[in-house]
Amino acid sequence: MMTPILPGATIGVLGSGQLGRMFAIAARTMGYRVHTLSPDNDTPAGQVSDVEITAAYDDLDAVRQFARSVDVVTFEFENISSETVLALEEIVPVRPQGEVLHTTQNRHREKSFLGRNGFPVTPFRAIRTLSDLKSALRKLGTPAILKSADFGYDGKGQVRITSADEAEDAYRDLGTVEMILETAVDFDCELSVVVARGMDGAVADWGVVRNSHRRHILDVSTAPAEVPPSVARIAIKIAHSVVQELNVVGVLCVEYFLTRDGRLLINELAPRPHNSGHFTIDASVTSQFEQQVRAVCGLPLGSTEIVRPAAMANLMGDLWRQGEPNWDAACAFPGVKLHLYGKTEPRAGRKMGHLTAIAPTTAEAELLVTSARQALLPYPQAQSARQAAHQRQSRETRAN
Ligand code: AMP
Repeated sequence: MMTPILPGATIGVLGSGQLGRMFAIAARTMGYRVHTLSPDNDTPAGQVSDVEITAAYDDLDAVRQFARSVDVVTFEFENISSETVLALEEIVPVRPQGEVLHTTQNRHREKSFLGRNGFPVTPFRAIRTLSDLKSALRKLGTPAILKSADFGYDGKGQVRITSADEAEDAYRDLGTVEMILETAVDFDCELSVVVARGMDGAVADWGVVRNSHRRHILDVSTAPAEVPPSVARIAIKIAHSVVQELNVVGVLCVEYFLTRDGRLLINELAPRPHNSGHFTIDASVTSQFEQQVRAVCGLPLGSTEIVRPAAMANLMGDLWRQGEPNWDAACAFPGVKLHLYGKTEPRAGRKMGHLTAIAPTTAEAELLVTSARQALLPYPQAQSARQAAHQRQSRETRAN
């Protein structure tokens, strides 16, 4: 019988972005202490943790010292070397275990694992040489997408190939050793299922989420997804089988394409809480982050009931282009919740925060969240009125 790691204990998190931040908030709410390790300081996760350690992931002395200061380690992204995971595993439980990371941090290993176990995946071929690419293009046809096998996310490290003549350029542009070529799927929509598995083998999911992307980055998610019940049943069944087959302890997201002829193909796996599950903070009895805490600490999983339909819209750095967003205008929408990640530099394409709306139907939630996001755009009059008020206030302060 496994002994749970109880509140009061310390959870270590590798990585320090927004996923770590929302995880740390859930952990601290439940009375755990949180230590984070990443190469940066004043990070989204570090700002809300008990201890923020700044060290490179391959600084094994720092990693071992970090491991000795915590009771269990989890992570918020999967691109951690096996040397680092091994160094941690010698000292402290790592959940999910290193093998899950090893499989999911490389697109070829991940897709091979899925294919071997009979899961439906986008057709793909492993590529190392230009001649591999040319022969794969003959087999898969075009359009196709060439992706780097390692360190890819949010469409980074991808080149679309629309005709076989583009092979050489695409091969040169990507310029990595290990790649995969995938058929470009003509999908009806993208879906995901976020699922959790506890130490006792219990599995729980939040149903099917519908995702729309902009420039390869998640833009809006709605839940429950309005898809035929048979599609939802299959997507959930596959997600349960994947989390069990991979032997995950923690949260895992399965991302799918729903093809125009109604088939589900797995695009990729993320062995951690996922952007498409952020709505669970405001709309579910147990959020994906609390569930991750429960799973990695060996506690029973919580209820994944969705209390109300929800929609989530990401807030990218681009929103700041014309100045500080109009926070008060978005907060004026009842049923809309603001989440900001504490990042100070709003770069284009950088996830700075998100909005979640809850409403009686998914469609209403989506309309609400996109309207609230639109209202964030600073309009010139409001800007100049705010600036004038600010200047007046500064003058008065100086005068006093
Ligand atoms: P990824 O980093 O592989 O998740 O890709 C990011 C986004 O690019 C996906 O969510 C899709 O919108 C698009 N994409 C990636 N691979 C494919 C594919 N094989 N066919 C069609 N669209 C794709």
